[in-house]
Amino acid sequence: MDGGRACASLCGHDESLVRGTSSAVAVALLDRLLVSGSDDAVPPGSAGDLAICDRDRLLAAIYRAVFGDRIDTRASCVHCDHPFELEFSLAALQDSLAGEDLAEGPDSSGHYRLADGRVFRLPSWRDEQAIAGLDPADARRTLATRCLVSGDPDADPAPLLAALERQAPVLDLELDARCPDCERDGVVHFDLQSFLLAALQREGQWLARDVHRIAVAYHWSHKEILDLPRSQRQLHVTLIEADMAARRRPA
Ligand SMILES: [Zn+2]
Repeated sequence: MDGGRACASLCGHDESLVRGTSSAVAVALLDRLLVSGSDDAVPPGSAGDLAICDRDRLLAAIYRAVFGDRIDTRASCVHCDHPFELEFSLAALQDSLAGEDLAEGPDSSGHYRLADGRVFRLPSWRDEQAIAGLDPADARRTLATRCLVSGDPDADPAPLLAALERQAPVLDLELDARCPDCERDGVVHFDLQSFLLAALQREGQWLARDVHRIAVAYHWSHKEILDLPRSQRQLHVTLIEADMAARRRPA
């Protein structure tokens, strides 16, 4: 999986816990899915310590494993309000975020160094929580202070913040999109974390049906069924439904 960190495959227990699209929900989901490994910097239960960009990469890997690389979303035109469909490749979107490095690193501690000698770390969920509710200017100042590891705390935070954005890009951005109706160019906001969690929550409505079908057919317990990886559970349901359809057909 991306970033060299392993994630277990999604099962019914994980899916049933996705309620909402906040970072707290994303962190809780990853905490369940992170598995211990020899070179694993982030053990299960520590997803809150992940840099936000690493969390995003893991969420992208989950999206790809569950739904594939294609993103299909709906947006409204900023000019004429006409709703339209937008589709793109998640991998291509991730590639488009790469650019020239604005800092040296990371070193063995995961820190980066600016040309003026300031050393900084990448922001995590803890930083996200600390700046929640602040006005944008305050939030940026606070983030720069929190992420500064060493160097002049009174230096201009702008280069540090620019380097943070470049070294730790997050899939929460404005995409260029042309309205098919009025044919004017506009932007569409896309945030992978919300998109993934909303998609999982929508799919979650089928979980009770899956559990019911398998329980009736195989007499497995609720826990045994929720323990199944999602793909295996869906395969069982497909087989059971094919069998039911075959039985309904007149001989
Ligand atoms: Zn339009």
